[in-house]
Amino acid sequence: MVSELYRDQGVVLRTYKLGESDRIVVILTAEHGKVRAVAKGVRKTRSKFGARLEPMSHVKLLLYRGRELDIVNQAESVEPLAPMLSSLDRASQGMAAIEAVDQLALDREPNLRLYRMAVGVLRTIAERPSPMNVPAFYWKLLAAEGLEPQLDECVRCGESGSTTPLVAFDLDEGGVLCRSCRSGTSISPAALTIMRDLLGGRLNSVLALDESPATHEVGTLATRAMEHHIERRLKAVAMFERH
Ligand SMILES: [Zn+2]
Repeated sequence: MVSELYRDQGVVLRTYKLGESDRIVVILTAEHGKVRAVAKGVRKTRSKFGARLEPMSHVKLLLYRGRELDIVNQAESVEPLAPMLSSLDRASQGMAAIEAVDQLALDREPNLRLYRMAVGVLRTIAERPSPMNVPAFYWKLLAAEGLEPQLDECVRCGESGSTTPLVAFDLDEGGVLCRSCRSGTSISPAALTIMRDLLGGRLNSVLALDESPATHEVGTLATRAMEHHIERRLKAVAMFERH
């Protein structure tokens, strides 16, 4: 008989209660995609691994494969990310980051890049607080999904930003627009520079920025772009499931 036990490591995305003392843990693993597993007895005070299975924990796991839900057999901490994220500001950044990961990860579909990005962003948030952590992560996630926005020329007429000001950003068009083509929301030159830096390999300079109207603009746009993408994907999945 094939062994139903397997090892992996992963980031805990969320947990919810099951019965009196158990918890269902949703984990993005390195090799098995998004896994839902029962952690038995974790809500009892003397649980052997309850504290290691909190959201944002990075853990090594031994799991039993089940038909729908797996079962956590062992959980060991890889690195203490969750405690470092305990300040309110860091925790809310960490939660915003892994909520998006949770939306994008597919059940039992391996996505090593997404797993690495999730671990990376939690480390960054733990080590280096910046108002740009989550916006930068959202744009990087979207780029990894094949949705890198066009920032250098108008998405409609193709005119280059070096010859005409690019003044608007349209989520449906996936990029910036010139004055005569403009649709969507307006974007300031400062926000456009930040976007180009963060998607053009100059992330460190972006993370060093202090809060400003431009960082707010990029943050709002990042959240809207992520929501827009997730909504579109949910619709596509619903359509696919109907047929
Ligand atoms: Zn144009």
